[in-house]
Amino acid sequence: MSKIHVMDEILANKIAAGEVVERCSSVVKELVENSIDANSSEIKIELIDAGTKQIKVTDNGIGMAEDDAVLAFSRHATSKLIDEDDLYRIETLGFRGEALPSIASVSKVSLDTSNGEVGTHVEIVGGHIKETKSGSLRKGTCITIKDLFYNTPARLKHMKSLYTELANVTDYVNKIALSHPDIKFILVNNDNILLNTDGSNNVLKTIKAIYGLEVAKKMLTLKTEDNDYTIDGFLSLPEVHRSSRNHMITLVNGRVVRNVELNRIINDSYHSFKPDNRYPIVVLNITVDPSLIDVNIHPTKMDIKFSKFEELKSLIEKAIKDLLHKKRLISHIEVKEEKEEVKSEPIKKNYVQSQLFVEREVKEEENPYTNEEQVLFVNNDLIEKEEIIEQENDEIIEDKKERLPEIYPVGLVHGTYIICQNEKGMYLIDQHAAKERINYEFYKYQLGHPNEASISLLFPITLELSNSEFIIIKEHLSLLEKLGFSIEEFGINSLIIKAHPTWLPKNYESEAIRKIIDVIINCDKDFSIEKFNEKTATMLSCKMAIKANTSITLEEMERLINDLRNCDNPFNCPHGRPTLVFYSNYDLEKLFKRSGFENKV
Ligand code: ZN
Ligand code: ZN
Repeated sequence: MSKIHVMDEILANKIAAGEVVERCSSVVKELVENSIDANSSEIKIELIDAGTKQIKVTDNGIGMAEDDAVLAFSRHATSKLIDEDDLYRIETLGFRGEALPSIASVSKVSLDTSNGEVGTHVEIVGGHIKETKSGSLRKGTCITIKDLFYNTPARLKHMKSLYTELANVTDYVNKIALSHPDIKFILVNNDNILLNTDGSNNVLKTIKAIYGLEVAKKMLTLKTEDNDYTIDGFLSLPEVHRSSRNHMITLVNGRVVRNVELNRIINDSYHSFKPDNRYPIVVLNITVDPSLIDVNIHPTKMDIKFSKFEELKSLIEKAIKDLLHKKRLISHIEVKEEKEEVKSEPIKKNYVQSQLFVEREVKEEENPYTNEEQVLFVNNDLIEKEEIIEQENDEIIEDKKERLPEIYPVGLVHGTYIICQNEKGMYLIDQHAAKERINYEFYKYQLGHPNEASISLLFPITLELSNSEFIIIKEHLSLLEKLGFSIEEFGINSLIIKAHPTWLPKNYESEAIRKIIDVIINCDKDFSIEKFNEKTATMLSCKMAIKANTSITLEEMERLINDLRNCDNPFNCPHGRPTLVFYSNYDLEKLFKRSGFENKV
């Protein structure tokens, strides 16, 4: 290759870098995907300052021969094996072929790779190959990217804060670990281990590595299928939720995809089981014949279109709703014991592991002939016993009424919380939330089964509206009439209401009518019957629920519990707050330091 040609190519790579290499996470993504393509079972990502100073990726994959190692950094390298059947691969190839040379053109790269027969070491600075020599025979590849964008200061300025860069990398590595549970991933930033999965091909264990044991225990297993789609994965109990949608992860045939509509369906399926503005943790894998999907791959994201999308959406929605309706979803208030610092232990262990890792690597550098062993990482199984994560709430309850256990009220605190008991422990019911749920389901039923039975108002109500509000209401007069309202125009921008449905709350009729009118006005452009019913039922339920600081008798408490038991979802108020919480006998004992003592006095 002539010198001029090489210069052109480096320039082209630098230009391409602007498009494909946006930040540290795009570099990590490229390197990790290469490691996966190389059939690695263990991939370690080590960052210095979130990758802005250094990104090092070490794998135990098939490695490269010397020619391929050099070729990998030239544009349009086609050394990669192409699997004709792999729809994704073919479409990503254009990007993938360019990424490595682009990264090399804006950083300082050192590469160690070996296919087990020859070891190669390559140094590249700003796209120029500085050195190629034989290197370690440890099978696999270790690539280090230093000083990203050192020669393109304008790009360097585009990098976000270290925190944002690190959050992006972590987010990517978490997702790739979830989509490849059979690969062991270690992510380290400045010697802190951020992720350490065990590669045991167990998704739940990967969830544990990312979110911790408490969350892993609170994941529900979901499995469903129809003729076209098979869906399996894990979703969090409604009590576990996050402020961001980012923890709802959908894989299609094992690859992370982005589909806003699917996330919306998943979140909506939890409606009224949790607050709508909080999001569950979900990992769902959709298995489908590739001919039914259309993948449009952009270097930084992966959008997907499904044929038979409506079927897929209702399949997911039904599966989640069915699952939530067959569980005993009572938040268990766990009392933590002071002495155990549960968190510090695994971190220490990880640290030891990483030290072992470093030692092992150094040894192999010294003695390249130990490559037969090919031990790159210390296998977790040597240190830990095979662990089984006990998912709480594994039980499927077919009889709806059994979901709420038999509980007996014993008293009321502050006219607000009903104390109940049974042989398992103590339950606290929020009486407002419970009554709200009962009312909500009542009104939802009434609104969904309209009849024209109505009550005439002794004193008709007149409503004055703005001209735009008046237009909106006039558009929905027939809906209101169907529900049993009798409404007429009454002068300019005014309405007169002469009758209302029989089920409107007694003594609050006129207030309720005004609020219903407000619901219609506020729904405005994206008005739908479902939305109107939902908002109206929620509004009326709160209005009519027992307020805090209201004393009720034991009989009334029993009736309330019974009505709650008959609810479709007895566990949450329509806003997603819990109606009751549970303290087990064991937790009560822990709370009073009774557990562990021989003589409980
Ligand atoms: Zn309320
Ligand atoms: Zn509420």
